[in-house]
Amino acid sequence: MNKQLNSYQIAQEQIGLAVKTLGLSSTVLDILRQPVRELTVAVPVEMDDGSVKVFTGYRVQHNYALGPLKGGIRFHPGVTLDEVRALALWMTFKCAVLGLPYGGAKGGVICNPKEMSDREIQRLSREYIRAVSPILGAEKDVPAPDVYTNAQVMAWMMDEFSKYKGHNEFGVITGKPLIVGGSAGRNEATARGCSFTVREAAKAIGLDLKDATVAVQGYGNAGSIVAELLQDLGCKIVAVVDSTGGAYSSKGLNTQKLEEYKKETGSVAHYPGSRHITNAELLTMPCDILIPAALENQITEEIAPKVKAKIIGEAANGPTTPGADRILTNKGVLVLPDILANAGGVTVSYFEWVQNNMGYYWTEEEVNGKLEAMMVRAFDEVYQMYRSRKDIDMRTAAYMVAIARVSEAMRVRGWLG
Ligand code: GLU
Repeated sequence: MNKQLNSYQIAQEQIGLAVKTLGLSSTVLDILRQPVRELTVAVPVEMDDGSVKVFTGYRVQHNYALGPLKGGIRFHPGVTLDEVRALALWMTFKCAVLGLPYGGAKGGVICNPKEMSDREIQRLSREYIRAVSPILGAEKDVPAPDVYTNAQVMAWMMDEFSKYKGHNEFGVITGKPLIVGGSAGRNEATARGCSFTVREAAKAIGLDLKDATVAVQGYGNAGSIVAELLQDLGCKIVAVVDSTGGAYSSKGLNTQKLEEYKKETGSVAHYPGSRHITNAELLTMPCDILIPAALENQITEEIAPKVKAKIIGEAANGPTTPGADRILTNKGVLVLPDILANAGGVTVSYFEWVQNNMGYYWTEEEVNGKLEAMMVRAFDEVYQMYRSRKDIDMRTAAYMVAIARVSEAMRVRGWLG
């Protein structure tokens, strides 16, 4: 969808606007508009049939003014260097909005894990991490899961990195299984953080969540759990779509049963008692809350005029294009930007890294409590910035909060001359 939209250019446009609105020097923009370091690797992997396939992978490090670099690794056939650059850039500001002591980075491998065996995915994960290992480390750059990677992949990567170093380095990667230094609550963290921001936004605009209708695009780790958590808050999940199809029910879908159904069949399509719905129908259907939880560039200038939701909670990275943002703002839709709405994942990654560093682990209640406090504070700071000016949307407000912090760190470090 919309291959002509370049996420990297979009990301640069977003920060350009915020730098200008803050009245910062052009040096700030010159530094922030491009990554400090990019590594492209060719990764040979032995496939199950004995042949060797060479995969292309990337690790892009955007900015380390606030601390070690942080950001996930994506396995997807559509990965491009520009996409990874955009995702790395977004990580810098996501960490800054939450006040985390991190810079931003991102990794990606062009591959289709859906067509690979577990053994092939394991070999790819190990080879990739070895290839990028010179620039990784608990104090240098700390990866995590992203689209089509998970805790198992993180365990293989941590194991490979630890073997290469000659000692266990749990803190080199987050999103690991609990038994090897993972954090309680990490798996649900992106979704939980998103549900907190939606709850705060609903409060701010006076939307009652009881029976509020919700449509969710993408039913992976983020989308399926946001649906469940919003259902727990009293919302009615009326529609969901994943990459294979969709399901709609005016009475509301039971998210637990839908989750079981997706596990069995691999898709949400044809869920018993539901009507089929397409991706485009879902984005423009009547609902109170829309949760894009899939990939970039989904809500475009063509879709935006037809959006009926009052709140959009961006569980995905980059789902709304700048043109669509302008249209949604004029229509009065409150867009909770990705760098705020999906920051719960990296926030609990930070907690995981802290726990790894001290070798002492918190309960799930402690983790969720700390996550809630940080998400609510970040929402309040962004919302205050948004309300303090007439000419900005929530995305620009979030970038302004973030860029003010990164730019201050760069200033005191002496990077701005
Ligand atoms: N991939 C997630 C994101 O885009 C998590 C990153 C992390 O935990 O480092 O925010």
